[in-house]
Amino acid sequence: MNNSHTNLLDIDVNKLQEELMALGEPRYRAAQIWHAIYQTKVNDIQDVTNLPKSLRINLQNKFTLGNLSLLNELRSSDNSTIKVLFRLCDEKIIETVLMNYNKRNTVCISTQAGCALGCVFCATGQMGFERHLSVGEIVEQVLWSYRKLNGINRTLTNIVFMGMGEPFHNYENSIKALDRIEDINSIGMSARRITVSTAGHAEAIEKFARSGRKERLAVSLHASTDKLRTQLMPINKRYPLEVLMNACHLYYSITKRRITFEWAMIDGVNDTEEQSQKLCKLLNNIDCHVNVIPLNPTDNYNGSHSTRNLIKQFKSQLESSGIPCTIRLRRGIDIQAGCGQLKSKHMR
Ligand code: SAH
Ligand code: SF4
Repeated sequence: MNNSHTNLLDIDVNKLQEELMALGEPRYRAAQIWHAIYQTKVNDIQDVTNLPKSLRINLQNKFTLGNLSLLNELRSSDNSTIKVLFRLCDEKIIETVLMNYNKRNTVCISTQAGCALGCVFCATGQMGFERHLSVGEIVEQVLWSYRKLNGINRTLTNIVFMGMGEPFHNYENSIKALDRIEDINSIGMSARRITVSTAGHAEAIEKFARSGRKERLAVSLHASTDKLRTQLMPINKRYPLEVLMNACHLYYSITKRRITFEWAMIDGVNDTEEQSQKLCKLLNNIDCHVNVIPLNPTDNYNGSHSTRNLIKQFKSQLESSGIPCTIRLRRGIDIQAGCGQLKSKHMR
């Protein structure tokens, strides 16, 4: 892949039109190419055979179609999860995970290489921040998923922004990527099938709410006291629980959409009576759903997942306070399908 070439996925349709006009091409070529990329989902501009050969060569001299090259692909033993590592043109590495469950095909995509937020239990956080992904690099993970699923007669039904990185730290590109994914003239996925997960960037949650977006929101909570949350998630210093919950209430009052709170169960850390009681209080007047997930082990954090019994107990305690709660299985454990885990293994 050539660094001096422009990634076609990084430009919008107007810019594409300008580029084609500069090549002396008629206006309708942009629409043809756009359609081929986002609806036919071609992998190579040479496959767009309704373009003249000379134009295809001109395009190839100036542009690349995408910036990801497949480095490694793993399937879980039950075939439900496919995890891939992609190398970007500057050698950075990101992960994308496809999951098949109950007729749903969901892709979990990355928005950054690494992450600056440093949650102690997270393999991506343990790597530190490398860089933001571009709009094209985010969207390409989705295009790749469609192609991959198409090869086995399936189609993508859901997208979660829950791979490497914090989408709200790369706010602008994440939003532009969402627009591209949802645009009926591009991929056309419904916003209701897309979830954006944040570690709790309160300002961005408010901005997101006010901008009238229709995606679902997930907030990674993991602790119900500032003391513990700050230990686990340093972002809590900047946006402590009160500030975060105010942003969540504002989000709900504007959008009327139920928030999902994520809670990774860590043995003896956040599965205690104190934590569950305070969590019930924290969530008692907001329409929400809690997903509890047994912690996935990582190299640089020595916590382990809570016992099955404690997880069940935690769930019933929330439910008896009227808070809906689901226990999520960590899928693809055998292929390091936790956030950032495959890359950590690759680097070792
Ligand atoms: N940065 C965003 C989205 C990416 S992380 C966020 O933090 O929400 C996606 C989810 O995986 C988050 O809920 C995160 O807390 C969770 N996660 C990270 N490491 C984990 C681990 N080792 N075990 C279980 N969940 C983990
Ligand atoms: Fe970043 Fe999310 Fe991992 Fe925290 S959990 S370090 S915010 S990717």
